[in-house]
Amino acid sequence: MKIIDGKACAQQIKAQIAKEVEMIKAIGFRVPKLAIILVGDRPDSMSYVKSKEKTCLSLGMDCQTYLLPATTAERDILDLVDRLNNDRSVDAVLIQLPLPDHYDSARILESIDYRKDADGLHLMNVGLLHLGEPYVMPCTPKGIMTLLETNNIEVAGQHAVVIGRSQLVGEPTAQLLIRQNATVTLCHSHTRHLSDITRIGDIIITAAGHPNLLKPEDFKEGAILIDVAINRTEEGLEGDVYSPRTREALEQRLGAATPVPGGVGPMTIAMLMQNVLDMYKTRNK
Ligand code: NAD
Repeated sequence: MKIIDGKACAQQIKAQIAKEVEMIKAIGFRVPKLAIILVGDRPDSMSYVKSKEKTCLSLGMDCQTYLLPATTAERDILDLVDRLNNDRSVDAVLIQLPLPDHYDSARILESIDYRKDADGLHLMNVGLLHLGEPYVMPCTPKGIMTLLETNNIEVAGQHAVVIGRSQLVGEPTAQLLIRQNATVTLCHSHTRHLSDITRIGDIIITAAGHPNLLKPEDFKEGAILIDVAINRTEEGLEGDVYSPRTREALEQRLGAATPVPGGVGPMTIAMLMQNVLDMYKTRNK
């Protein structure tokens, strides 16, 4: 079984971004800038935001984080987004999700100018993706497609089984696979006989958030597994399928797989950085 090394791939992409930013600086232009809004103090969100900020700065780009208490009025968040939309020095805006329950998340996400929507979650960008003309792609699906491409995994004509239909991962991934001419089956929590479906899949993408969702024998010989899930268990981080318990049996069965950790995870942040640079380049043609 080939290990699809997301960490190494992300590293290469980030090195290329750093090189481009260096060139932008060298010719005297301002560097790309990401603005992040974090509302509330969820420890996991705070650590994700720190890591995004750190990566952005390490690549030579600019990053400004707005930490707002969960008592902030929705109007004030909308005003801040409006200011960032109109700030010519800001190329991309990211609102860390989930927002506390009392906010209208959809309304706040829609308030971002879709041309500055770092995560590709704005209605306009969702629509453009469905039309096959994405302006900006959501980071995890983009990372999955990049891993398939850079590992020379043929998508056209393959039967891809996507497990999970969230707007963040499953749905857009299925769309991108369809656009690349895969035959896609989209499974979710109401799907019956899941393993009957995965056994006839060439490429299986799991994003359910359930450890032990499938066993190694639920895949056909030589299938490709992209395990997107990050499940925190007593034994550490595990995917929906990939774990220290299943690794050996998966190695016997599969053609290639992403490990957890070190598979899709590192790609997500690299794709966010790529989105920031790409939006900068589009805005400053
Ligand atoms: P979500 O909870 O929004 O969606 C989960 C989806 O899985 C739903 O559509 C649900 O119908 C489906 N599902 C749940 N149980 C199922 C079952 N038993 N059988 C079939 N389908 C089932 O979650 P999400 O935001 O899409 O994230 C999914 C997983 O991916 C989580 O573990 C999350 O931590 C991980 N994730 C990883 C990255 C990364 O960078 N690697 C990024 C985003 C999310």
